[in-house]
Amino acid sequence: MTTPALWSAQAHMPSVIGRQINVVSAEGAYLTTDTGARLFDGTASLWYANIGHGREEMAQVAYEQMKTLEVYHVFGRYTNNRAIELSEKLVSIAPIDDAKVILNSGGSDSIDAALKLARRYWNHVGRTDKKVIVSREGSYHGLHAYGTSIAGLDFNREGYGTDSLVAGTERVGMHDAAAFAATIERLGAESIAAYIAEPVMGTGGVHPPQEGYFEEIQRLCRENDILFIADEVITGFGRTGEMFASSRYKLQPDIIVFAKGVTSGYGALGGTLVAPRVWHPFFEQGADSPIYRHGTTYSGHPVTAALALKNLEILEREGLVARSAELERVLARELKAIESHDFVTSTRVGGFLGGIELSSDVSAEFVTDQAIEQGFITRPLRGNTVQISPPFITTDQEVRDLVGAVRRVLDAAKAKASKATATA
Ligand code: PLP
Repeated sequence: MTTPALWSAQAHMPSVIGRQINVVSAEGAYLTTDTGARLFDGTASLWYANIGHGREEMAQVAYEQMKTLEVYHVFGRYTNNRAIELSEKLVSIAPIDDAKVILNSGGSDSIDAALKLARRYWNHVGRTDKKVIVSREGSYHGLHAYGTSIAGLDFNREGYGTDSLVAGTERVGMHDAAAFAATIERLGAESIAAYIAEPVMGTGGVHPPQEGYFEEIQRLCRENDILFIADEVITGFGRTGEMFASSRYKLQPDIIVFAKGVTSGYGALGGTLVAPRVWHPFFEQGADSPIYRHGTTYSGHPVTAALALKNLEILEREGLVARSAELERVLARELKAIESHDFVTSTRVGGFLGGIELSSDVSAEFVTDQAIEQGFITRPLRGNTVQISPPFITTDQEVRDLVGAVRRVLDAAKAKASKATATA
């Protein structure tokens, strides 16, 4: 049997060959596949197609920018207007006062930039032992070497030997601030550089923060001189009904990592927003200011920056962040209603992203496959949980239809299980 040239490296290839879904076009909240199937994008691709697919003005802005300046790098003395404008725009909407922006190509890139920066900062100010990064069990911070090393999803760290790819990582329980306090006690505050968390944990199963959790974490960070990093790769740019989840959950991060929603996926762009405490030594110490020495070929790429600017303009012009907050309420109602199903153990909502956790009677993979058969894309997450996170242009009815499709799948699974019990 011939196998495809394209290695989808997040797939178990023997299982997907012959049943891959080849998306050929997309418009609004709908995809069309090469078999002509029309699918509702119930996950907004990987949580980011927020303004919806196929926007003419996004194509136009990329075309215009490519004609004017397709690319020039931002190493050393070079810069470009779109990178400057985007950074100014991001600073104006950031929940960090007087932030600086480092632009990269995506989320994993920006995680690397943030975590290296935390260590570089402490090293520069003479606290050279502050190197450990503390993350949460269940967390997902991308899959570059640093993201892999701090991963709270164990399967992402498997297969590289017993050491982390990058040394100096610790994990603590998802809602367990006391575990963080114990880790500080055990390792000593002088060895910990930063704590990092997704405000609403995404891939780990859609877990919004528990009351008081981040308050306590931030108190511990402040008291122990530990940088607090918010990974807003999923939550940034409206997913939780505010531009940033840090505002919603009253977080005061030293560094925010963003990607995905900054362009709604139209361009491969991510970055870090950095608070004055951290950027200050790199800007304000004259000859003693160090160079951070972090950049990639596509940092500050003018086409992706232009796409981000247009995406932010669309979010504001169409009131899509407020719409996301409304959609959260619709989703919350629908998920509350499905909670009584025998095969559902719990549901969670933290913005316009929801998780339906299933009992062991049925798997999230099965439910996802069946929902796709009915024309609705969902995705299985850790903890037998089904992901729901459509674009912000979704109608109330489409949210009801999506959850309705999941319910039909669960009803059918239950009817089948009951029949099997009856005939046994
Ligand atoms: N951080 C979080 C919270 C994510 O969900 C992701 C991707 O899903 C990443 C980081 C990595 O981003 P990317 O896939 O753009 O490298």
